[in-house]
Amino acid sequence: MSNVPPADADQRSGRRTDRLQGRKGDIVNTGKKNMDIACCVLGMVQTNVYIAVNRETQELFIVDPADRADVIIRKIKETGACPAGILLTHGHFDHIMAVDDLKNAYHIPVYAMKDEQDLLASPMANMTIYRKNSVAIVPDMMMNDLDTFRIAGFDIQVLHTPGHTPGSCCYYIKDEGVLFSGDTLFRGSCGRTDFPGGSMQDMQKSLHRLLSSLPEDTAVYPGHESFTTIGYEVRNNPFV
Ligand SMILES: [Zn+2]
Repeated sequence: MSNVPPADADQRSGRRTDRLQGRKGDIVNTGKKNMDIACCVLGMVQTNVYIAVNRETQELFIVDPADRADVIIRKIKETGACPAGILLTHGHFDHIMAVDDLKNAYHIPVYAMKDEQDLLASPMANMTIYRKNSVAIVPDMMMNDLDTFRIAGFDIQVLHTPGHTPGSCCYYIKDEGVLFSGDTLFRGSCGRTDFPGGSMQDMQKSLHRLLSSLPEDTAVYPGHESFTTIGYEVRNNPFV
């Protein structure tokens, strides 16, 4: 299988989008060394929730559990692998509503950027105050830029990419050629910068950093919409 997520047609809109092969939520062999990835699109604003499974160690981590812990738990059961942690790219409501339920179910640590801690802890700032349940999250592991940690048998590097929020980050797994880009880099676009703490200037710096430092064949898994690659964004992203 190719390293680049194959393109197929979005059934509902007829638009061409780059999706992993298979139906949404299928567990897909990405063609990477040890990583299989499932993507569930969940929550009010269609957030991509990723479950990254290590075929070798049979462990997994979850990126941005947006909502519907029951759906995520069912998907985790299907993988047969053991959850090892939750990675948050930032603290907005549409990325965190299922964090507490998953923590209670699996007793696993939550990783986030240190610079995001105020936003994560404040239902006003993370905008969960406007939802059914206010959520305040205190990460177990506060990360700084360029920190590397090992989870589920993967070495993961934190890249601080402010712009969407002050403590937004991306998670880079060099050995697998994979980047989880949150609401920083989207296919042909980028995250909004008009929320409190957002900055278009910071966003442009962050996008430039990603596109100038990562290999072109890096597969990018954003917080919303379609998958992409660094190479595609270098050539097509108008915000850089
Ligand atoms: Zn966001």
